[in-house]
Amino acid sequence: MLEVLRRVIQEVNGARNLDAALSTMVRRIRKAMQTDVCSFYLYDKELESLVLMETIGLRTQAVGRVVLPLGEGLVGLVAKRSEPLNLEEAQMHPQFRYFEATGEERYSSFLGVPIIHQRLMLGVLVVQQAEKRRYDDEDEAFLVTMAAQLAGVLAHALATGNLLRPALAGGQAMFKGVAASPGMAMGEAVVITPPSDLNSVPDLVPNDQDFEVARLKEAIGKTRSEIRAAAERLASRISAQELALFDVYQQMLGEAALADEVEKRIREGQWAPGALADVVRRHVQYLERVDDNYLRERAADIRDLGRRVLAHLQEDTPSTPETYPDNAILVGDEISVAMLGEVPRDKLKGLVSVRGSSTSHVAIVARAMGIPTVLGMVDLPLPRLGGAPVLLDGHRGRLFVRPGPELKARYESLIAEEEALSELLEHEQDLPSATPDGYSLPLMVNTGLAVDANALLKSRIGGVGLYRTEVPFMITERFPGEKEQTKLYRDQLEGFAPLPVVMRTLDIGGDKDLPYFPIDEANSFLGWRGMRVTLDHPEVLMVQLRAMLKASIDLDNLSVLFPMITNVEEVDEALRLLDRAILELGEEGITVVRPQVGVMIEVPATIYQMDSLAKRVDFFSVGSNDLTQYLLAVDRNNPRVSSLYDALHPALLGALLELAQDAKRLNKPISLCGELAGDPAGALLLMAMGFTSLSMNAPSLPKVRAAIRRVPLSDAEQLLEEVMALDTPALVHAHLDNRLDEWQLSHLMPPRD
Ligand code: PEP
Ligand code: MG
Repeated sequence: MLEVLRRVIQEVNGARNLDAALSTMVRRIRKAMQTDVCSFYLYDKELESLVLMETIGLRTQAVGRVVLPLGEGLVGLVAKRSEPLNLEEAQMHPQFRYFEATGEERYSSFLGVPIIHQRLMLGVLVVQQAEKRRYDDEDEAFLVTMAAQLAGVLAHALATGNLLRPALAGGQAMFKGVAASPGMAMGEAVVITPPSDLNSVPDLVPNDQDFEVARLKEAIGKTRSEIRAAAERLASRISAQELALFDVYQQMLGEAALADEVEKRIREGQWAPGALADVVRRHVQYLERVDDNYLRERAADIRDLGRRVLAHLQEDTPSTPETYPDNAILVGDEISVAMLGEVPRDKLKGLVSVRGSSTSHVAIVARAMGIPTVLGMVDLPLPRLGGAPVLLDGHRGRLFVRPGPELKARYESLIAEEEALSELLEHEQDLPSATPDGYSLPLMVNTGLAVDANALLKSRIGGVGLYRTEVPFMITERFPGEKEQTKLYRDQLEGFAPLPVVMRTLDIGGDKDLPYFPIDEANSFLGWRGMRVTLDHPEVLMVQLRAMLKASIDLDNLSVLFPMITNVEEVDEALRLLDRAILELGEEGITVVRPQVGVMIEVPATIYQMDSLAKRVDFFSVGSNDLTQYLLAVDRNNPRVSSLYDALHPALLGALLELAQDAKRLNKPISLCGELAGDPAGALLLMAMGFTSLSMNAPSLPKVRAAIRRVPLSDAEQLLEEVMALDTPALVHAHLDNRLDEWQLSHLMPPRD
C-alpha cells in the first residue's frame, strides 16, 4: 500500500490543476482499494453543505447536483462529526439518504473520511461497494492518509482562489484560458478524445444515449463476428477443448449480461467507451479476488474482450464529419493540427483546449484559418461539456458554457460590430500599406496550408514572408517524397508568382512533432529542433532542398530560410548542402537559379552574431515567437507562465531595435514573421525600428494595414522613443493603448474588458 500511496501523492502533486488532481485521486483510490465508487464532496461554507465535486462510479451528472446540508445523510454525518464512518450495510443506517441522481442504491458498503486541514473541515472522501464488504483497518488507514494529503492541496487551492465550484449542473459557467486566435463564436461543444486503452478511457457524458447504445451494439456485433471467424479459421488446427474457449467468448458477448450492464451504465450518463471500461473493470476486479483458478482466468478473457470491443468503438470515432454540428466548437485536452483537419471547415467555428498557449502551433494554424481559439484552459471540466451550448471569446480568452439570454444578446451585438468593422476595413485592402507621410512598408503573409494560397491575397501583399513547410508534413503519414514535395512547393510558388515566397526548411521538434518521426525529449524547446534535426538528417534536408529548387524552375521567386540557427557553422553546413543540391540538379540536366538565402533570428545567440551571419546570407527574418520564449525563459506553450510571455517586454523591444539597426548597418533586409507582426501596435513599433517588411497571418492584414495607413512614420518613431523609455511590459501596453486611443485607433486593438 505504501508504494501506491507514494505514487498517488506524487501524481496529485504533479497534476496541472485542482480538477485534474481530484480526478486522478478518486480514480487511483478506487483502483488501489479495488472498490466500485470513490467520490469527493467539498464543504461549501456559504451553503453550509457538502457538494459532490468529483466521482468515479456514481453518475457523472450527479456532480454539482448532490448537495447535502451538514449533518444530513452519511456524508453530512462524517463531516459534522469529523470522524470516519465505516458501514457494511449503509442502507440500514438511520441517517442513510438516497439520491436518485447518483444511482447509489446499488451500493451497500460505505466508508467515508473527513478532510481536515488545520482543524478546519474541508470536505469528505467516500468509497462505496456494491456487495457487502467490511472495509478493514488497512483500508481505513489508507483513505485517512489520502484525505490528509488532499487537505493540503485543497487548502492551497482555496487560499489561492483556484477552487472551482461545479457550476455546470444547468447554470451558466465561465472558464478562462489564453486568447490564441481572435474572434467570437457561438456554437455547440464537441469534445474530442484521442484513442485510449481500457485504463485510460476518459469519462464523458454522452449527448445522445441512444446513439451510444447503438454503437456499442454494433461494436459487440463486430467483435462476435471476428471471434467466430477466428474460431472457423482455427477449427481444424486446435483441440475441441481449446475451441470451446471461443464459445465462452461468444456467450460472454452474446449473453445479455455484459451488453446490458454497459447499456445501463450508458443510461446512467457515461459514454460507450467509458461505460465499457467501467463494467470490464468491475468484473475483472471481482473475478481476480475469487479463490478459483478457472474464474481468475475468466478475468483475463473479459479484459481481452473489453479491449476488442473498445477497439471497434474507437474505429468509428463518435464525431465523423457528417455528425459534426453546423457550428462545432471543438474542445479537447490537447488539439493537434491533424485533428483540426478532421472537421469540415464550414462547420468549425472555434477551438478550445486544456493545453497549449497562444504561440503553440495549433494556435498559429487556427489564426491562419481565422478560427477563434482559446488554449490553456486548465480548469475546463471536459467530461461534462459534450453537446453543451457555448460561447467562445477568442479576444479575451473566455468560454461561457450554457450562456444565459443577456450574455447571448451582448455577444450577438459584439459579433455584429466586429463583422461591420471587417467589412469597413475590407474596402481599403487593395490600397498600399503606406503611411500618410508616404513611407511604404511591405506586408507579407505566413502560409503553411494549401488553403492559404488564396488568389485574392495576391494583390494585397508583398509576397509570402514565411511558408512553414512542416505544416503539410504534419498531416501526412510519412515524410513526403521528392515528387510530392515538388508539387506542394510548386503550388505555393506558382500560386503567388511573381511575388517572392520565403520557404523555411523543416522546423520540427519543440511542439511540432511529426507522428511518424516522434522526438521525445524532456526539454524539447531546448533540444533537437529545426536545423539541428535536418543537419543530422541530410537525406531529409537534401530531398527538401532539391524539391524547392525544382519547384522554382522558371518562376525564380523562391527564397530559402533556415530555422533555429544558433551557430555560424550550421549556416555554412546548410549552405554547403544547398550548393550540392544545385550542383546535383545541374548534373541531372536541370538548371536552377540559386535562391536568396536567409536565416531566422530566433535564438538569442544570433543577436550577437549579426556581422558573421551577414557575410553568409542575403536576409534576416526575426522569429519573435521563439525569440520571446528564449530571451524571457518562458515556454511558449505553458499556460502557467503565459502571463509572463510578452513580445512587448522591454528586453524584447531592446533586442528588436538593435537587430533592425544592425541589419541596416550591414545593408541587409530584415523581416519579422512572428505573431508580433500581426499586432497593429507592434507593427507600428517595428516599422519605426526599421524592419523592412512584416509577415503575418492573412486575417491580421486588414488591421495592420489600417494602422499603417493612419499613422505617419514620424508619429510611429515618436511612439517608439516613448516606449523605449518604459521599464515594464505593463507600462508599455498601457502607453500603446493610450496612444492608439488618442489616435482613435483603439478599434484596431484586440478588445479587452
Ligand atoms: C517564430 O518563432 O517567431 C516563428 C515565426 O516561427 P515558429 O512560430 O514556426 O516557430
Ligand atoms: Mg520559430
